Amino acid sequence: SSPAAQPLPFQREQNLIGGAWVDADSGATIEVNNPATGAIIGTIPQAGRAETRRAIEAAADAFKIWRAKTAAERASALHKLADIILANQDDLARLLTTEQGKPFAEAKGEVGASAAYVRWFAEEARRLYGDTIPSPWAGRRIMVTKEPVGVVAAITPWNFPSSMLARKVGAALAAGCTVVAKPAELTPYSGLAWGVLAEMAGIPAGCVNIVTGDAKEIGLEMTSNPIVKKVTFTGSTPVGKLLMKQSADTMKKISMELGGNAPFIVFDDADLDAAVEGAIASKFRNSGQTCVCANRIYVQAGIHDAFAEKFAEAVRKLKIGNGFDDGVVAGPLIEEKAVAKVERLLKDATDKGGTIVTGGKRSPLGLTFFEPTVIANATQDMGFAREEIFGPMAPLFKFETEEEVVRYANSTEYGLACYFFTKDLGRAFRVSEALEYGQVGVNAGVITTEVAPFGGVKESGVGREGSKYGCDDYLNIKYICIGGV
Ligand code: ADP
Repeated sequence: SSPAAQPLPFQREQNLIGGAWVDADSGATIEVNNPATGAIIGTIPQAGRAETRRAIEAAADAFKIWRAKTAAERASALHKLADIILANQDDLARLLTTEQGKPFAEAKGEVGASAAYVRWFAEEARRLYGDTIPSPWAGRRIMVTKEPVGVVAAITPWNFPSSMLARKVGAALAAGCTVVAKPAELTPYSGLAWGVLAEMAGIPAGCVNIVTGDAKEIGLEMTSNPIVKKVTFTGSTPVGKLLMKQSADTMKKISMELGGNAPFIVFDDADLDAAVEGAIASKFRNSGQTCVCANRIYVQAGIHDAFAEKFAEAVRKLKIGNGFDDGVVAGPLIEEKAVAKVERLLKDATDKGGTIVTGGKRSPLGLTFFEPTVIANATQDMGFAREEIFGPMAPLFKFETEEEVVRYANSTEYGLACYFFTKDLGRAFRVSEALEYGQVGVNAGVITTEVAPFGGVKESGVGREGSKYGCDDYLNIKYICIGGV
């Protein structure tokens, strides 16, 4: 392996525990790669249970200080944090593209979204209102207050290594909680950068702790340590289920943002150009590596051929390459394993009668690059009807009736996001209500924003992030009955 280059701005190769940047107890490290080039960017600590326990204890100490701050003080610290993120947007985006691969413009977008979440929660911090309730007793009054749950453990994935922490750290700090975060080992630097940013914003030591290393060991400590009152996770459904089981013994609060299998439906009465544009944005953002990406594109028979032609034409124009190169909109996949998964699902589809309209193979650019691909004649018995593709491949399914497509769309254990295009007002309401999903885009292919609740139903998870609901998961409701009035 080649020697690591100079660290980039915000690249920290240590963990942050109680305000100190530290190595793993053993001194062991893990190498981090640039997925576009295979070059080693640097190393991170291979921490485990002992380091995680210390981080949790540091967060518990800091909780005493942070919870005692006024709402205005917490809001002001978060506003400062948002300002610092924006002031350093380019450097943070450069770090993100280097370790994750997404096009630089998308990386800047993600960092901007991180700032937007933090800003939102800065505003929410001042509005965590309670209630008073009309009392059934003449001599008593009833009050409801909201209190921070305490120490929060956050585990995040590699596809949005900056903004997934923004939703969790922002909400937790706004509510008065303190955090121990574990970013994904594939993209740890955008996670560790939150430690630097929190320090720059003057957030007290121990409020934000970040550990990297052995995911299983860190997860075991986070889920079994009774000091941790809440576990918030974004990642795969199997790992989410495991963490939920592990958290049961100490009855932690849980938020889970898990896998999806988003249907994208184009009805005969859709605006064709808008549907094509929406499908491209929904499917190919982050090279198809988002949990809300269109996974199955259902097109009604009357518009099918016209849509397929225009869609394939737009896909052929997507420029593939290193995320730092001009005009690139399709970066590498996170690792070669991800490419192998796309190939497996592609072969399964072609074996069962699917046809390749465009793409369909690895790009000569390197092992992690796969050509943006469209498959026609997709059917419900193909692997991607059930499984998340998480790559730049778009299967087109032809359907006849609204009733039929709603049934197909709902025939999955997932329920995160779905999309459909129609100009019929009645259908817009009818289908929105019939789809068993946490998020519905009608005539819109990208709908995520800090002001709206992000989250799923069924096996896509529990809890909502962002929006006026986003702090709820970090708060306990306390009922106070005041007698002797
Ligand atoms: P994916 O890599 O497909 O996004 P994962 O669920 O494997 O999904 O990863 C999401 C996050 O969960 C990462 O930070 C990863 O390190 C972490 N993770 C994976 N396995 C475990 C585990 N057993 N306990 C705790 N965290 C885990």
